[in-house]
Amino acid sequence: MPPSIKQTLHQATQGLKPCSDTARLDAEVLLAHVLQKDRSYFYTWPEEAVAESTLQRFFELVDRRAEGEPVAYLTGWQEFWSLKLKVTADTLIPRPETEILVQEAIGLLREDASYEIVDLGTGSGAIALAIAVERPRCHVLGIDQSNPALQVAADNALRLKITNATFRQGDWLTGFAEASIDMIIANPPYVAEFDPHMSEGDVRFEPRSALLAGPEGLDDYKKILPEARRCLKQGGCLLLEHGYDQQDRLLDLMQRNGFKDARGIKDYAGRPRVVIGHT
Ligand code: GLN
Repeated sequence: MPPSIKQTLHQATQGLKPCSDTARLDAEVLLAHVLQKDRSYFYTWPEEAVAESTLQRFFELVDRRAEGEPVAYLTGWQEFWSLKLKVTADTLIPRPETEILVQEAIGLLREDASYEIVDLGTGSGAIALAIAVERPRCHVLGIDQSNPALQVAADNALRLKITNATFRQGDWLTGFAEASIDMIIANPPYVAEFDPHMSEGDVRFEPRSALLAGPEGLDDYKKILPEARRCLKQGGCLLLEHGYDQQDRLLDLMQRNGFKDARGIKDYAGRPRVVIGHT
């Protein structure tokens, strides 16, 4: 007798428990991926038998997950701001806490605004695409130094039919004209070089260049801030995601670089997560 969906999920969940806090969810997402179904299918048809070939493919993925590989890299997909995004090992996996950055940006953009917005270190294009969807008259340009990441972002835009976000290779704001951008937004690398959390969880598999930023995790902000001040128009604004213990230092750096009304925002978990400054 081949095992049922229910039995298969139970077995995989037990196997994943020692290494994942979200064992049941991981098992469901991986089985849904292999079966090309929604997770809701499992609740409707728990007794359905799982074919041998499916089991084999599924448990291969479960084993890789047990070794720590992120679910998003195993399926190739991650949801962000209700967009289904392709992700690869060349891109950071979009985090739910980054949605606060999108929400704050949108809050600053009138619905009929037609601004020029730049997303620095765009990766899979998550932030750029979410803003582009919410503000269809704006143009969002996603910049990244990694060509493989830009390819993923461009694929996402194409598949989601989002035409007001475009992507281009670059080194932060090098080459941009003075006072040419209305809004700059970034989730740059901000993890400190020897942060012990680099040896735990998903980050072990993510591109180090998208995570690490010098001894205090502030190196990239120090490059971005003066350039952003130069490239923003009068009345423009800069929004940056940051680590939970960096907000005070960033607010200080923003003021020193000539940004006005700098303020910090907490994420949905109540941790300081975003700073906003104006020109
Ligand atoms: N939020 C990510 C983490 O803590 C870091 C993302 C980043 O460096 N931009 O793993």
